[in-house]
Amino acid sequence: MRTILTRMSLQRANVRIEERRGFFGALKEVRLWFSRGEHVALNREAWDALGRSGEPVALGEDGGRRLWYAEGGYYWAEDGMDAEAVALLAWDRERRQDARLDRLRKIRAAEEDAERGRRERLPDEVRAAVWHRDEGRCVRCGSEQELQFDHVIPFSRGGSNAVENIQILCGPCNRAKGDSIV
Ligand SMILES: [Zn+2]
Repeated sequence: MRTILTRMSLQRANVRIEERRGFFGALKEVRLWFSRGEHVALNREAWDALGRSGEPVALGEDGGRRLWYAEGGYYWAEDGMDAEAVALLAWDRERRQDARLDRLRKIRAAEEDAERGRRERLPDEVRAAVWHRDEGRCVRCGSEQELQFDHVIPFSRGGSNAVENIQILCGPCNRAKGDSIV
């Protein structure tokens, strides 16, 4: 089945590279197998030139589309598209990909900031209010040893730093709670 290409667009080509070597391992030929199980063969000079080329190189044709090497990748373009158009479209693709990666980096950084914010120390006034309300003891067993401020609803589940969501637990009770809700 022929792939329909939108005019003025490039499509990534699936190319498998097969090296053919002669005696003593010298590179004789490189075969680029493309999507329909057909290949173009490049001799050593053509293969080396491909790696060095800053310009798109047309490699072969297949059912009304042309295989190009451009910007370090292989692409299908509609027959009749010239090298300049291929260069521009390949460049545009790379540029949009970079912009997308930048956006993802920013989103990830923002999420990491939010996570750090959640882990921040409880405000002193919240600690004081909870301490007063819970009378400085574990709300479960009444112990006054190894006391900790505990989030009733964990941050990972949307709990906040509000007084109502904080309680005093001793270490053993906190660990037991941790075990029971997992
Ligand atoms: Zn306790």
